[in-house]
Amino acid sequence: MLLEGKKIAIFNVANKRSIAWAIAQAMDAQGAELILGYQNERMAQNLEKIVGDLSKPPVAVVQCDVTSNEEIEAAADKIKATVGSIDGLVHALAFAPREALESPFVQTTREAFAQALDISAYSLVALCRALQPMLNENASVMALSYYGAEKVVPNYNVMGVAKAALEASVRYLAADLGQNQVRVNAISAGPLNTLAARGISGFIDMMKIHSDRAALRRNIEPEEVAGTAVFLASGLSTGITGEIMYVDAGYSIMGM
Ligand code: NAD
Repeated sequence: MLLEGKKIAIFNVANKRSIAWAIAQAMDAQGAELILGYQNERMAQNLEKIVGDLSKPPVAVVQCDVTSNEEIEAAADKIKATVGSIDGLVHALAFAPREALESPFVQTTREAFAQALDISAYSLVALCRALQPMLNENASVMALSYYGAEKVVPNYNVMGVAKAALEASVRYLAADLGQNQVRVNAISAGPLNTLAARGISGFIDMMKIHSDRAALRRNIEPEEVAGTAVFLASGLSTGITGEIMYVDAGYSIMGM
């Protein structure tokens, strides 16, 4: 029970394949009390169908479209009202318009660039800003990233730029929030077949290449990302902040 007594907010669950959901299940199994976020009414219905699989109901469910300051504030208010303070924040959300993930990167429009960076990177800053007053000492914040932040991955395009911004934001936030003993890290996960991932053109080829070339010669499982999230939220990782942790079966260490 690594997370007994810890209250952790996870943004956002879309369905049972979401990395956020794998993390929710693993944290629930380790005794955490969960606050679960969803983007909109459609996602709320999906969440309703699966939430009964947890060992206990979440202490709160909150709607949070991160493009809306009002929804972020309302989510923070609801968390404050229901649980008072939190010990963890998981940022597992991203978006880029589909055309930006299939056309050459040089064709990226100003609108697509701004939207991808706003939803996928700035939202981490916005959530930390809104929830900072509620973060307990030793709280752990984590975000989900991908190798496309540092190397060119075909079709990942503007999402790679957004993940680079997200990873830099992790370091700046770690320096700011570290003054209150709050840690901020990212998990750079290998490809997993989720709703968001299927928006990337050629995603199935990406999984095949990954499993062929990774040091472990396989793809990762959602439970492996979730296990790392549990570790980062737990008292076992209190000396780690500002890090990007790879859960990619060793893909990123290979030169060829
Ligand atoms: P997913 O589709 O299950 O989750 C993406 C979430 O983002 C959904 O809950 C969706 O509602 C939310 N979202 C999109 N726009 C939003 C907005 N405007 N406001 C609030 N929420 C919004 O897919 P996933 O793969 O579980 O993605 C979770 C995170 O993991 C993302 O940051 C993604 O980039 C990252 N990641 C995924 C992979 C992969 O291969 N699946 C690999 C590395 C990192």
